[in-house]
Amino acid sequence: MRLHQLRSSHPRAGFELIASIAVIGAGVTGTSTAWHLAGQGHRVLLSDPLLARPIPSKPADRDLNGSTASLGVLMGHAFRRSSGRAWRLRQRSMTLWPSWVEQLNHPESPLQLETPLIQLAGSADEALRMQQLADARPDSGLQFITNERLEQADPPWPQAGHGAMLSKRDGRIDPLQLLRALRRSLVEHNIELRGTEVVELLRQSSSDQSKWRLLTADGGIDDFDVVVICSALGSTKLLQSLGHQRPMDAVLGQVLELQLNKPARPWSGWPAVLTCGGINLIPHGQDRLWIGATLEPGVNADPAATETMKRLNELAPAWLNDARVIGQWRGLRARPRERPAPLLEELEPGLLLASGHYRNGVLLTPATAEWVGQHVDQQSITNR
Ligand SMILES: Cc1cc2nc3c(=O)[nH]c(=O)nc-3n(C[C@H](O)[C@H](O)[C@H](O)COP(=O)(O)OP(=O)(O)OC[C@H]3O[C@@H](n4cnc5c(N)ncnc54)[C@H](O)[C@@H]3O)c2cc1C
Repeated sequence: MRLHQLRSSHPRAGFELIASIAVIGAGVTGTSTAWHLAGQGHRVLLSDPLLARPIPSKPADRDLNGSTASLGVLMGHAFRRSSGRAWRLRQRSMTLWPSWVEQLNHPESPLQLETPLIQLAGSADEALRMQQLADARPDSGLQFITNERLEQADPPWPQAGHGAMLSKRDGRIDPLQLLRALRRSLVEHNIELRGTEVVELLRQSSSDQSKWRLLTADGGIDDFDVVVICSALGSTKLLQSLGHQRPMDAVLGQVLELQLNKPARPWSGWPAVLTCGGINLIPHGQDRLWIGATLEPGVNADPAATETMKRLNELAPAWLNDARVIGQWRGLRARPRERPAPLLEELEPGLLLASGHYRNGVLLTPATAEWVGQHVDQQSITNR
């Protein structure tokens, strides 16, 4: 590996081995990974056709990646499992989020965690499981609330009738604000941003200093010590020509923006996120609400799916049924076939895959970037 023994200007790096790294894909995964690696002192290039455009001011139903369509719900503490990789990644992300937000928050790109999250129990069994979870994790900010003691919210919550779990430290982060804050920081870190598609990845012979050659749609040819593939559904094609099979399926998600007919007291008693039967209700502004997201296998949106979602499995209160649809968007999630999401793998020395995050890419952003950073550093040490 061509690692340049340099005295880095980065305060954490000291006298370290610096790698030249290409990150492919500028959704939340790639953008945050590029930021994290530059923070470790590495020389980073980030490539994605979407970098040729500014981050949209609001989600639009056109040319979007998974990240710009996402609701940004962070449900890390209220996760049922208490062991395994998925649980560890969630725990790690939730631990890292506050310091990430602190580092990225800037007057030009404000960023905050919006809390709490409340999950309505859909059945007596689910209520019991929530109660047990809250009892088992006294320090995680979880609290079960019986139906009788549920807040009198205005407008009223859907009446599932079995109580709810309050998760004080879960909630959401606005994905567009996150991407804006990251992009601002990338410029500050002198990360090279290239608004083009990577069309091919080639292994270089061992006599060459660099290990990986990147061919881009604009005719660019560049060599790197390390390549990190963060291109969600686009990862499969890049890997295929190198002999790695990582098929992924698209799962489409639709989101509705609703306007209430009667603006009540503005969301009195509402959490940042209210979850009912797996559907998230996110109030914003005086009288607006995002509701999402559908889970539709494939790339084609079914108009009936948003209708079903809006009815909340027949639990929607009258005010929600009456609310007017004023906006709508969709995006694709990348679900790995026959492997658990996400795909975090070192496929070959210098070739890292951080992709296939399916439903939780925003939540897992900091833990993913950290995983990549640790693998790059391990390689630096091994190759010293
Ligand atoms: C409607 C909806 C709601 C969601 N809600 C949530 C939520 O509440 N919480 C949560 O945690 N997650 C949520 N998700 C999932 C989350 O959005 C994804 O897991 C996450 O955005 C994945 O990020 P990513 O950066 O890996 O992929 P993407 O955001 O899809 O980015 C991949 C990028 O790679 C680029 N690319 C592809 N091929 C190439 C190539 N050859 N060269 C260069 N660039 C390339 C693409 O242009 C794209 O910009 C939601 C998803 C959807 C669709």
